[in-house]
Amino acid sequence: MKLTFPHMGNVSILIEDLFGRLEIEYITPPKTSLRTVRLGVRYAPELACYPLKVTLGNFIEGFESGADAGIMVGGVGPCRFGYYAETQRRILNQIGYKVPMFILEPPLAHPLKFYRTFKKVAPKKTLRDLYRTIKVSWKKARYIEMIEKQVLQNRCYEKVKGSTTKARKKAINLLESAFLEKEIENAYQEATEIISSVPKEEFDAPKIGIVGEFFDLLEPFVNFDCEETLGNMGFYVEKSVYLTDWLSPGGKNLIAGHSADEVARAAKPYLSHFVGGDGRPTIGHTILYAKHNFDGVIQLMPFTCMPELIAKSILPKISKDLDIPILTLVFDEQTGKAGIQTRLEAFADLVTARRKKGFKPRREIIDWLDNKDQDLVEV
Ligand code: SF4
Repeated sequence: MKLTFPHMGNVSILIEDLFGRLEIEYITPPKTSLRTVRLGVRYAPELACYPLKVTLGNFIEGFESGADAGIMVGGVGPCRFGYYAETQRRILNQIGYKVPMFILEPPLAHPLKFYRTFKKVAPKKTLRDLYRTIKVSWKKARYIEMIEKQVLQNRCYEKVKGSTTKARKKAINLLESAFLEKEIENAYQEATEIISSVPKEEFDAPKIGIVGEFFDLLEPFVNFDCEETLGNMGFYVEKSVYLTDWLSPGGKNLIAGHSADEVARAAKPYLSHFVGGDGRPTIGHTILYAKHNFDGVIQLMPFTCMPELIAKSILPKISKDLDIPILTLVFDEQTGKAGIQTRLEAFADLVTARRKKGFKPRREIIDWLDNKDQDLVEV
C-alpha cells in the first residue's frame, strides 16, 4: 500500500520524515500548482472551502502518480474541517479512485480511532515506536519552522534582492536531508549561519503581522507567497501560525508561541467564545501584534471560511479602537496574483506613511484591555 497526502507548506517534509522512519510506503504528490487547483475545483462542490478543493487536487495528483490509498487528518469541529476526509473520500470514489482513505483523528480527542488508523498504516510498529519517531521528526519540523521564521525577519534587510530566498532553500535542504538527531542539530546550526550570513543593510523596518486561517497561512502557493512579497517590499514580517507552535506552543515565538488560552484571553474583549477554525486566534493575534507595536496586520482567509468571516467582521472595530491598519485578503480559485500584489502595495504605502508620521497602536487602550478582568468564559 502506497499512501498519499495533501500539501501544506513544509508539512510534506515532516510527513516524509515520519513515514520514512516508520517504514510506511508513500508517494508525495507534485507540489501544489495551478493544475492541482483546477483538478480540485472541477470535482469539489462550488461552495466548499478553498483548502478542501486544493487538497482534493493534491490527492488526485497523488493517485495519478501511483498511490493507492490516502491519509488525511480529522477534526473536531465546529467548522467544516472535520468533514474534509469523508467528503474527499466520496468525491474520489465517484470519479473512479476507489481507494481507502485513512483518517487520522486528533489523538487527544479520539485516542482509540487514532490508534486504529495508526495500526492500519503501520501494522508492525508499536506506540513506543511511534513516540520515538515523532520525537525525532518533531525536532526536525521545529528547526525548519525556526529557520522559516528567521527568513521572514531577515528578508527585508538583505542587500541583494533574492539572496535570503536562495539561502532559505539551502538551509531547508540541509535540514531535510539530516536523519540522526545529532545530524539534525548540526544542520540547524549550519542553516542558521547560512541565513544570518546573508549581507544586510541596517534600517528601522516597518513591521507587519500576518493572521488568519491555518492552511492559507502555511501554503505559499495559495497565498501567492505574500510573506516573500512583503519582505521584498522592505517589511519585517511575523506570522501567527506555525505547525509546531500550534501543536505545542513553546513560548519562543513572539506571537505564534502563545498558548491557545493566552490567545483566547487576548481576544476576549472582542470575541469571548470559540467560533471554530482560527476565528478567535485571528482576533487574539491581532491584539497581540498591536501590543507589540506592529505597524499593520494582514488577515488571510479562504473564501467561504465561516470562522474567518466572523473575525473579519470584528477586525474593523479593533482597527479603529487600537489605531492599527488591518487588511483582509480572501483567496479562492478566482484570486489572481496581480490583484493581491496591488492590494499589498497600497497597504504597504499606508503603513509606511503612518510610520513616517509616528503613528503607533494606542497604548492606553491596549493597557486598559490588558487590565480588564479577563477570566475565560467558554460559551
Ligand atoms: S477553518 Fe475555514 S476554511 Fe478551514 S475548514 Fe473551517 S471553514 Fe473551512
